Amino acid sequence: MPHDHHHDHPHTLLPSDPALRVKALETILADKGLVDPKAVDEIIDLYQNRIGPQGGASVVAKAWADPAFLEALRADPSGVIAGMGLGGRQAEHVMIAENTPERHNMVVCTLCSCYPWGLLGIPPGWYKSDAYRARVVRDPRGVLAEFGVTLPEETKIRVWDSTAEVRYLVIPMRPAGTEGWDEARLAALVTRDSMIGTGLPLSPAEASA
Ligand code: FE
Repeated sequence: MPHDHHHDHPHTLLPSDPALRVKALETILADKGLVDPKAVDEIIDLYQNRIGPQGGASVVAKAWADPAFLEALRADPSGVIAGMGLGGRQAEHVMIAENTPERHNMVVCTLCSCYPWGLLGIPPGWYKSDAYRARVVRDPRGVLAEFGVTLPEETKIRVWDSTAEVRYLVIPMRPAGTEGWDEARLAALVTRDSMIGTGLPLSPAEASA
């Protein structure tokens, strides 16, 4: 553990449990008038309940269903996504990475944990793990296998490294057997992991199981 903290230091005034530490910090900041507790609750509610993978899924489903939308998304992803009221409050650019039979895309932040919060909500724990960040670059196929995904040998894998300025949304391939489906039905097939590239969308059979 490179950043292990020693809790016997005299400056450790906060409890060690992360949730308690956050609560204690929030209390101190609120007492000093530095943050409004209602604003903190609002932000937590926003990311837990109102912003989540359903935002990204609506973009993917629309891209599958509407060729004109896909063209617009390719030309100006950040603008189109912002126009849908998505993308979050950060001013970062969102890029799309379209999966094809020839190329599968995966997203990582090798430096820290940059993630398209406004499209996917709170990042999963593994996304921030040292193991994922280090290994997905060296051995993307091995990492994919651990997520239960096996791609044809001829499919190349491209790994996109997120930064503070650029975040990526993977547009997975539209599942077979969904001809004529409307956007809402399609969106239900789009998993969070399929938009990070560590998973595939559900098939119609999986969705109805
Ligand atoms: Fe980062």
